Amino acid sequence: EALLARIGQFDPQLNSFITVTADQARAQAQAADTRRAAGESGALLGAPIAHKDLFCTQGVRTSCASKILDNFVSPYDATVVEKLAAAGCVSLGKLNMDEFAMGSANESSHYGPVRNPWNLECVPGGSSGGSAAAVAARLIPAATGSDTGGSIRQPAALTNLTGIKPTYGRVSRWGMIAYASSLDQGGPLARTAEDCALLLGAMAGFDPKDSTCVDQPVDDYLAALNRPLAGLRIGLPREYFGAGLDPLLSDAVMACVEVLKKLGATVKEIGLPNMQHAIPAYYVIAPAEASSNLSRFDGVRFGYRCENPVNLEDLYKRSRGEGFGAEVKRRIMVGTYALSAGYYDAYYLKAQKIRRLIRSDFIGAFQEVDVILGPTTPNPAWKLGEKSSDPIAAYLEDIYTITANLAGIPGLSMPAGFIDGLPVGVQLLAPYFQEGRLLNVAHQYQ
Ligand code: GLN
Repeated sequence: EALLARIGQFDPQLNSFITVTADQARAQAQAADTRRAAGESGALLGAPIAHKDLFCTQGVRTSCASKILDNFVSPYDATVVEKLAAAGCVSLGKLNMDEFAMGSANESSHYGPVRNPWNLECVPGGSSGGSAAAVAARLIPAATGSDTGGSIRQPAALTNLTGIKPTYGRVSRWGMIAYASSLDQGGPLARTAEDCALLLGAMAGFDPKDSTCVDQPVDDYLAALNRPLAGLRIGLPREYFGAGLDPLLSDAVMACVEVLKKLGATVKEIGLPNMQHAIPAYYVIAPAEASSNLSRFDGVRFGYRCENPVNLEDLYKRSRGEGFGAEVKRRIMVGTYALSAGYYDAYYLKAQKIRRLIRSDFIGAFQEVDVILGPTTPNPAWKLGEKSSDPIAAYLEDIYTITANLAGIPGLSMPAGFIDGLPVGVQLLAPYFQEGRLLNVAHQYQ
């Protein structure tokens, strides 16, 4: 009830929720009380959370922040939603995001932009901007998000939170509306690594309903938190510290390095030579997959349908033309172009080759170090509207985060101080399925 009151008081300015499910939350809270009274325990029993609005929730609107799904009520729960509910979490509703998770500022939502609680004139990052703003403003202690190219880590960094993108295949994508299927992963945003460990432990695991979900036991992330860091080998990629990085952010990373050294870590410079190709490769692969995934929104089966279509083609064209926003249309066009006959080899295939090189860079680097450390973003949060007319400027903000998605490795962003009153984050990357190591380092640092 206290959090529902906070949402009522503060969310009109922040716009972090698309849907508040107060009645359902009360029923879930009561059910958690009953389970506790029956002797059940567990840290998540009764824990309030909310879901990014791309996780399907049975009986509750699941919009992906798009007009085309404004009237879509899902007939089933996503696996992540089901698993967190089974652990006893109480969902207070559905969180705002960039339309179809395409963006880094949460300005492309059909329901309006989300504001950063640290400065209401600034963006909270994206695409999980609603998740970040709601947790940062203490409307909820933790939230789910999804990360295709940084959408958990970047908004976490810009709002002083901890967020983890797991290894590709660690968390089921079933019921998570697809943006770019080979890159998408769900994960938590919370204040601390400990809270993320709790949430991720409940979210992760094999799911026969997602063919890319890996059948491997889930580590005990809570137990991993307290391992000492003595002997930890940290790699600093030289490519991270070039032009484009705010020098104050570079200082924040080095300050973090000093703390980790005091805890027993050693530091060495490493190389990730193919990083320079990551943004072009990502902005071919992600739109290509998106153009294919979004073809299911045709105005026929579900979602928005235009008024009085004259024939089937008119129905498709106008439903999609009226239902999708500008950024989504841009990506459908880029992706369709890249996949069209004759261009496949030049764009998609080439981007896939770059992806393999980026993966090899990481595999090589992890022969020498245990984790890679760097900034999460090149800059702190920017003013609302500042980059919205320049998509390339916004795409460049993803430089540090997208390589993890292209390679499939896990990444975590944790708070690293403030620049001119705005939070910044540092990012840790680890080898496949080493989420426990990321949470361990973040917890020791915190
Ligand atoms: N900013 C990136 C994009 O717009 C990443 C988004 C995401 O991770 N969902 O594609």
